[in-house]
Amino acid sequence: MVKVKRNILLNPGPSTTTDTVKMAQVVPDICPREKEFAQIMAPLREDLVKIVHADPKEYTAVLFCGSGTICMDVAVNSLLDKDKKALIVSNGAYSQRACDVCRYYGLPFIELKQPLDDKPDLRKIEEVLKENPDIGYVYVTYHETGTGLLNPVKEIGALAHRYGAFLITDTTSAYAMIPINVYEENIDFCMASAQKGIMAMTGLSYVIGRRNIIEQSKDFPTRSYYCNLYMQYEYFEKTGEMHFTPPVQTIYAARQALIEYFNEGEEAKWKRHQRVMNAIRKGIDEIGLKEVLRREVQAGLVAAIDYPEDPNWDFEKVHDYCYERGFTIYPGKIDGRGGFRLCALGAIDEEDITAFWEVFRQALQAAGVQVPIN
Ligand SMILES: *Cc1c(COP(=O)(O)O)cnc(C)c1O
Repeated sequence: MVKVKRNILLNPGPSTTTDTVKMAQVVPDICPREKEFAQIMAPLREDLVKIVHADPKEYTAVLFCGSGTICMDVAVNSLLDKDKKALIVSNGAYSQRACDVCRYYGLPFIELKQPLDDKPDLRKIEEVLKENPDIGYVYVTYHETGTGLLNPVKEIGALAHRYGAFLITDTTSAYAMIPINVYEENIDFCMASAQKGIMAMTGLSYVIGRRNIIEQSKDFPTRSYYCNLYMQYEYFEKTGEMHFTPPVQTIYAARQALIEYFNEGEEAKWKRHQRVMNAIRKGIDEIGLKEVLRREVQAGLVAAIDYPEDPNWDFEKVHDYCYERGFTIYPGKIDGRGGFRLCALGAIDEEDITAFWEVFRQALQAAGVQVPIN
């Protein structure tokens, strides 16, 4: 096997992958219209449904070639019936992106703004649902990757259902990391991207959702040629293939990643991510860094950290120092607030974080930042 340098990615995806997943991409050239290729798609789609404990008779995975945002685009634009409105629970950069998708398609939607650093107010959500019987779906980001906030999806889903709407949640930064059960959490549609939870490559993304609603959406207005959920679903049902050229090598990597996912096991994998986050938090506390969110409201996969107030702090310098030594840290995603993020996804474990903090301390020292920070 070719030796590939192992980098520790602490950015919120793509994540660190195993060598076996990297190497799974090296396959003989194949035309994806061959039966042999279609045969690897069916079990892959079933596995993706299984990860969120759904019955493949009721839920299906519809694959798209693109980064995670393609699924947001597809779900938001394809699942709104005419005369219906979307309700977006807006409490972070990713739900704002969903609002942008609505704007770009000219869709009617209600943006319910909620604090970025706390759980949304369920009563407000209920009020909006009560006042607007024409809401077709409620949209919420499961885990706001910009801040690390975990949303109460189960409760929001129950409200949506009580008022005759269905629930779409963007699980891109939680799927295959935090155990999710679509039935228990009232989820009709969720989504993810291969470079995050399953620890594979960028270029393959999937919407997982209820077949009966996808079937209904056949009669919803079609707003996109390429990003239409029903069109892609129907093509899969008829042929077992993606409508247009799939990301062939990325799919081989995803297949290997799923083998490794089920080998590691849902619980063990979540425990590992928690171990990694505990190691991240230990370093934060020891160095005296401050997080944006209280830990009780975090999903436990992203730590959003404020820039230290030390005049010598320089993100670029610290980033470059760490990067040269194989560790990638990532800027924050909160408007008007300087910060950076450390994320617990990927094929890493606590010893990688211990090694990272050593390098980070050296980087602070090299920049002349006082440790501990007070
Ligand atoms: C990563 C991510 C996405 C997708 O981002 P891409 O850059 O398009 O892959 C969408 N939603 C959330 C919550 C994410 O964390």
